[in-house]
Amino acid sequence: MYDYLVVGAGLFGAVFAHEVALKGKKVKVIEKRNHIAGNIYTREEEGIQVHQYGAHIFHTSDKEIWDYVNQFAEFNRYTNSPVANYKGEIYNLPFNMNTFNKLWGVVTPAEAQAKIDEQRAVLNGKTPENLEEQAISLVGTDIYEKLIKDYTEKQWGKPTTELPAFIIRRLPVRLTYDNNYFNDTYQGIPIGGYTQIVEKMLDHESIDVETNVDFFANKEQYLKDFPKIVFTGMIDEFFDYELGELEYRSLRFQNETLDMENYQGNAVVNYTDADTPYTRIIEHKHFEFGNQAKTIITKEYSKTWEKGDEPYYPVNNDRNNHLYKSYKKLAYEQGNVIFGGRLGHYRYYDMHQVIGAALQCVRNELD
Ligand code: FAD
Ligand code: UDP
Repeated sequence: MYDYLVVGAGLFGAVFAHEVALKGKKVKVIEKRNHIAGNIYTREEEGIQVHQYGAHIFHTSDKEIWDYVNQFAEFNRYTNSPVANYKGEIYNLPFNMNTFNKLWGVVTPAEAQAKIDEQRAVLNGKTPENLEEQAISLVGTDIYEKLIKDYTEKQWGKPTTELPAFIIRRLPVRLTYDNNYFNDTYQGIPIGGYTQIVEKMLDHESIDVETNVDFFANKEQYLKDFPKIVFTGMIDEFFDYELGELEYRSLRFQNETLDMENYQGNAVVNYTDADTPYTRIIEHKHFEFGNQAKTIITKEYSKTWEKGDEPYYPVNNDRNNHLYKSYKKLAYEQGNVIFGGRLGHYRYYDMHQVIGAALQCVRNELD
């Protein structure tokens, strides 16, 4: 009766289901949580869209993907400009002339560059091989010590010398007074939240959605009943960890509703010292320039993933990437299961990359 079973009603599963339904396929979507939209889920409280699983800012330079997502929601003009709080000192992010001026008193790009060059000399021209070396090479030792080292070690639970360099290259370094966290051409927050996007994607007569259903409660039956399965959960869990466990990082979110209009003056404040137990505080109303009487904040704590926790981040170091490759081989041999998304591909994907990967997956399937 169905052409596909999609496991997971997150962004990857929803784009896939939507696109194949438009091509006449019949799809069943199962989701183990009690709601759709995966980690981009937002819900309204006190008139504020709360990003339940962490701050989500959509950004891309790919016009096709921007147009694609704009079919499902209108986006506002939000530009992400988080600030860092290091023991009460406030610095602009990403690392730019405002950051360099506050830290060193430098005014021109040449002065900032000279300061960075002086500090990165400790590397003696070595090609960076880990996150610590990469960070020092990009911005020097002062910024590394105040804004990167402790935040990163809280976030990943490992010394920066044991983390891959690419993680810190996600952040722009600029010799301009520009606090935009992203370099992308298009950026914004969907007015009214993200959940509507997934709702609209799944709203099709050829798509049936069931929440509160765990694939693993009935795995063998699903494998028998469906000609093809798209699996967006953890790839190692799918294979019952038979080659070993991949590592993930989990999070704990602590929400507070406060009887005040404006708590921190910005949507995202990162706490970059080691003593503050959380990594960042999100004040949700600022994503949509809200002026409600109350405000809702979320403290985000990073933690080691254990079975039963939500696996928010893959830990893409050499050991895990190598193990993932072995799982990918098993996946290939499995034949009728397509793995996708952040957990199925075990990749630190942002939303635009998930949409791109899902659209590519549909092309591979149907073209
Ligand atoms: P998910 O959203 O995880 O969806 C997978 C779904 O599968 C989940 O709903 C899960 O419950 C379900 N599932 C898993 N196993 C089973 C099972 N056995 N049975 C049934 N269902 C199952 N991206 C950006 O572009 N900008 C940002 O600002 C940004 N901020 C982020 C902040 C945080 C804290 C995090 C964690 C991520 C952020 N991202 C951001 C990334 C973004 O969340 C992901 O790219 C995107 O949500 C991944 O979609 P997905 O469908 O692959 O995975
Ligand atoms: N990072 C940092 N200090 C900050 C913000 C980020 O050192 O104030 C580093 C940290 O290692 C983090 C990485 O940059 O894991 C990527 O940051 P991003 O904001 O992209 O992380 P995400 O939103 O995906 O958690």
